[in-house]
Amino acid sequence: MEARGAAGEVRPQEYLDRAVIFLGPPGAGKGTQAKVLAKQFGAPHLSTGDMLREHIEHGTSLGMQAQPIMSRGELVPDSLVLKMVAHRIERRDCIHGFVFDGFPRTVAQAQYLGQLLVEHGFPRPIVIHLVIDLPLLMKRLTGRRVCKVGGEIYNIFDRPPKVAGRCDNDGGELMQRVDDSEEVIAPRLSAYEKQTSPLVAYYKRLGLLHQIDAAKSVDEVKQQVLESVMSARRTH
Ligand code: ADP
Ligand code: AMP
Repeated sequence: MEARGAAGEVRPQEYLDRAVIFLGPPGAGKGTQAKVLAKQFGAPHLSTGDMLREHIEHGTSLGMQAQPIMSRGELVPDSLVLKMVAHRIERRDCIHGFVFDGFPRTVAQAQYLGQLLVEHGFPRPIVIHLVIDLPLLMKRLTGRRVCKVGGEIYNIFDRPPKVAGRCDNDGGELMQRVDDSEEVIAPRLSAYEKQTSPLVAYYKRLGLLHQIDAAKSVDEVKQQVLESVMSARRTH
């Protein structure tokens, strides 16, 4: 039975038990919502973008291969991303499920993930498609600021920090991602259209897709995401 808290909010059961995939264009709110959902279930938040940026920061061989590709706003080759993800989900913190943000981004990645999940004995994933129009995305991407310490996501137009340039949680410095410049946003959106948007039909055919209006407030989207996750867990 579904538990409800005092405020009528759906309270998740203890474990997520599977993968949740956030699908949507850059700026749709995948990172914002994936962080919230992962925290609600005590599951790891697996952002392939964050993982790649960490590789770049540490100057690893993967980071050196990915850096010029990411700075052009293109997708990193499947072979590199798949190896990184397969390695990450081997870690102990993933045994009760995990929340993907920015992965899969191609049909080949989705097919490989499907096999990986079967090999690890997970049920079919829950796919949350954050639906949003292009004009809103520009505002979200150019206004995005991220805490250098804890990764908290802000927006100078819609979700500003209390003190300009500083994170509300830990006082960390807020920075703008290099690929959130107008020149790089265009190729990123075009990569989404060409390479990632076919995943909407792919997951719809598999009956795994939950569409959510991502233009609504963070709290409204959060509630919809939680309801979709709870209903998918009851039915599959
Ligand atoms: P993505 O991971 O899909 O690229 P983010 O979660 O980083 O997107 O969000 C992009 C920007 O939009 C950030 O500045 C974030 O604060 C803001 N944002 C996210 N969700 C909402 C929302 N529902 N309403 C207003 N702004 C939002
Ligand atoms: P994100 O943080 O999700 O916006 O991703 C930033 C960049 O990292 C993207 O523009 C790609 O260059 C790269 N990237 C992240 N995830 C993937 C993926 N699953 N496949 C290919 N490239 C990725």
